[in-house]
Amino acid sequence: MSAVEIAKAVRAGERSAVEVLDEHLARIEEREGDIHAFNLVLADDARAAAEAVDQAVAEGRDPGRLAGVPIALKDNLTTRGIPTTCSARLIEGWRPPYDATVVQRLAAAGAVAVGKTNLDEFAMGSSTENSAFGPTKNPHDLTRVPGGSSGGSAAAVAAGFAPVSLGSDTGGSIRQPASLCGVVGVKPTYGLVSRYGLIAFASSLDQIGPFSTTVADSALLLEIMGGHDPMDSTSIQQPAPSYLDVLDRGVEGLRVGVLRELVDAEGIAPDVRRRTEAAAEALAAAGAKVEEASVPAAIYGLSAYYLIAPAEASSNLSRYDGVRYGLRVDAPNTIDMNAATRTAGFGPEVKRRIMLGTYALSAGYYDAYYAKAQQVRTLIIRDFKAAYEQFDVLLSPTSPSTAFPLGDKTEDPMAMYLNDVCTIPSNLSGDPAMSVPFGVGDDGLPVGVQLLAPALGEATMLRAAAVLEGALR
Ligand code: GLN
Repeated sequence: MSAVEIAKAVRAGERSAVEVLDEHLARIEEREGDIHAFNLVLADDARAAAEAVDQAVAEGRDPGRLAGVPIALKDNLTTRGIPTTCSARLIEGWRPPYDATVVQRLAAAGAVAVGKTNLDEFAMGSSTENSAFGPTKNPHDLTRVPGGSSGGSAAAVAAGFAPVSLGSDTGGSIRQPASLCGVVGVKPTYGLVSRYGLIAFASSLDQIGPFSTTVADSALLLEIMGGHDPMDSTSIQQPAPSYLDVLDRGVEGLRVGVLRELVDAEGIAPDVRRRTEAAAEALAAAGAKVEEASVPAAIYGLSAYYLIAPAEASSNLSRYDGVRYGLRVDAPNTIDMNAATRTAGFGPEVKRRIMLGTYALSAGYYDAYYAKAQQVRTLIIRDFKAAYEQFDVLLSPTSPSTAFPLGDKTEDPMAMYLNDVCTIPSNLSGDPAMSVPFGVGDDGLPVGVQLLAPALGEATMLRAAAVLEGALR
């Protein structure tokens, strides 16, 4: 059952939230040992929340639009009193004193948090293999990665552990795992969803968004999570959006651009390209005007991102000093204690990013690297703006390939980074983008296609996604 269906049945008193929860916990019991989607399953807290929902229904109170809907939360979202680890040894055991705004809003709407999901340490990676607690496996094939960094959240939905989950997307961490796990994943417009309580990776790029099995479920989650939050200074001053009531309007007359630079990008597999072309045809068959689009600077996105994101990360991660959070490795003086703690507490990829970022920001190199990357970012924003004068939405592959084997790219950071070539440009521009499942590749594994839209164009983007979803039925 989808989240929309569960909430409807629970609100109408046709199903109990506890019964819905038990079904999902049973599936977790059965397959979690193989998949490892979770860092922590919250069976007791979830039962208490589900009971409260059932109690409300019994007393004639409306428990909310997500009544009894089980939801999995990426373990970089703070949960009050519940360990939040970012899959990092460094903050293992830390219990945040507050809930993220999104966690609060979903709970207030009656959602039931079932667990905290695994991720690449501090959300740095594309396969969830950088987790300090071991990798998550792809539910479609346990020898393959689920993608990353929100691999646990994508796998949880693909395995039926929860109908919906939350991830964060700095360079593709919602869309790429959604594609590899065969589920829907949305990165909203920067500022649409509050980042309060999202542990920062690269603050100018990070956004929280939903995973789901249907487009409507992601639309519903965005309606509930979106809207202004005074606790996040980058939150857009705008009320909660509404998408569900326009979702079935179709794409008649919509101008769709097939983003040539990304379809032709380095490493795009032939089967992924064919699925993207099939999606273009499906949109055309539904009445959209489909043409080729160009965003010339998009191909420089990857290089710019791998300077800007590490630069911001090197600053954000400086707070993990052995004093305020989690791990401390003692030493005779503070400087040595800081160094010993960070040496022991950060994994190799996180250390690589901190060094890269520190270098890019250092005096003498700042102009050549960080400032240059920011100029490229401006070019990307400009080129997208021009493209959106001609098109309502853009279409591209989400990820260059289907899910790759575990261990395949762990020794080669560049090969791992290349996974993000299609997803990064819209993080740099701040525009919304999403992945929708659109069939399978030559190996029988899921392929997602990416829809992109101008800032706050979620309604149109979701409409196009609903058409692709319908075309496969
Ligand atoms: N794979 C990208 C990276 O490693 C994106 C990660 C993300 O979106 N959190 O930086």
